[in-house]
Formats: sequence, structure tokens, C-alpha cells
Amino acid sequence: MLIVHRCECGHLDRWHSSNPLTGTHSCADYRCRCARPVYGTPEVIPSWRGTLDGTCLDTVTHPPECDCGDCAALFAQATGKEVA
Ligand SMILES: [Zn+2]
Ligand SMILES: [Zn+2]
Ligand SMILES: [Zn+2]
Repeated sequence: MLIVHRCECGHLDRWHSSNPLTGTHSCADYRCRCARPVYGTPEVIPSWRGTLDGTCLDTVTHPPECDCGDCAALFAQATGKEVA
């Protein structure tokens, strides 16, 4: 599972890339006119990993790429659940 932020445009944070030259952001979806991502609270989404038998749902929660407090709290919560 992954901890991600979702932009108001509906796409995940990793879909957005910033252009250091112009200072603008663009979304990977070319139909999306998002130029300035606005992120709410992070959420946990399922992820898959490849095995010899194919792909299976990842039950491990990966550390968030984002280092904000909300992501850290969500990660602590998610990993606590796995141990319990
Ligand atoms: Zn978008
Ligand atoms: Zn966006
Ligand atoms: Zn975050």
C-alpha cells in the first residue's frame, strides 16, 4: 500500500511535475488543466507487487515519499495495524 496525496484535480501527487524554469506545475493527464496542485490529507491506496506467480496485492505499507506530518502519522497508523 502506498501513502499518497490526491490533488483537487483528482490525480495523485506523483502525477504532477514541476517545471523549475517557469515555476508552474503540470499534471500527467494532458486533459487535466491543473497548473497548481492543491493537496488535501493523505490517503492509503492499494499497490501491487510482482511475484513468480504474477502480481499480488501488496500488504505492506511503504514509507511515504512525502515527509509531511500527516503522511508520517498515517504511516505510523498503518504499520501499527499490521503488527496488531
Ligand atoms: Zn490532474
Ligand atoms: Zn492536480
Ligand atoms: Zn504528505
